[in-house]
Amino acid sequence: MRWGLSSVAVKRLESLQTEILLVISRAWKRTVRQLLERELHIIPILYKLHQAAMSHRCQMRCSNHHHVLKAKRPNDSSHPIHHLYALAFSDIRQVYKLTKAELEDTNSEQYTNFDELWIKDAPRRRWINRYLEHRAFSHAGMSWTAWRDCQPASRIPNPAYQGEWGEHKLQLHTGLSAAQSTMLILMRTGNIGLAANPVYRMALGIPTRTCPLCCVAEWGLEKNQTVKHMLIHCPALSAKRTDLFIAAGHSDFTLFMERDVKLATAWAISNFGLSQFDKVKNKALYQLPREQKDTEGN
Ligand SMILES: [Zn+2]
Repeated sequence: MRWGLSSVAVKRLESLQTEILLVISRAWKRTVRQLLERELHIIPILYKLHQAAMSHRCQMRCSNHHHVLKAKRPNDSSHPIHHLYALAFSDIRQVYKLTKAELEDTNSEQYTNFDELWIKDAPRRRWINRYLEHRAFSHAGMSWTAWRDCQPASRIPNPAYQGEWGEHKLQLHTGLSAAQSTMLILMRTGNIGLAANPVYRMALGIPTRTCPLCCVAEWGLEKNQTVKHMLIHCPALSAKRTDLFIAAGHSDFTLFMERDVKLATAWAISNFGLSQFDKVKNKALYQLPREQKDTEGN
């Protein structure tokens, strides 16, 4: 699928996409590209490029230029163009077969006139592009699952590692301030200024993942300074946390990360002690208790 691109060029493309994703999401550097793609619902660049290239090839394969292009192909059958030509031909046949079968089920007028429509550029292009888009999405999903299933067990509890491809989280950012949106991506990916994050520990030379606020495990609850520990369990924050639980009407970490993100991020900005939020953490917007209208799902 790399159509002659060197591995260096492929890595540069992926690296460029990662840089852009970091800017868009405001995630920390070294946040894993796959997490940002899933959170923001961005198809990996190689699949997107393949989709665009195959769309072009399929259109050319169907165009009036086809015979000219065919005549100009190199004689050497091992030349890559023969492979690409075969791929385009295979895709076109597949689109024809699948689209016709799909329309047959609907018993529509389009099915009755399918062969007439197929030789017209506009509907054929639309069907081909739809097929290629679905395939890119499907490949991205398989790639996500394969990658996620290889991740260390210690990272899986972070919300961004859970769920399947396509369950993107853009809607969670609706109505959040810029600081809250930033906090949400940090909390969901786990790449945040807490001791349980290996990236943070390595950058600051922190020797342990233990929470510096409580330092001890109580009642078997985790003492590692994870997002969940800070939001739900840390005894050092229990007094401040009461307002959060009352406002939300629950103490469920998953609900805070999947639904009540406005409350969770506001409280985190105000109470996690992350220096990047020092300038905004005292704003009234991030203090609890709030007016009832600010709570979600109640
Ligand atoms: Zn603690």
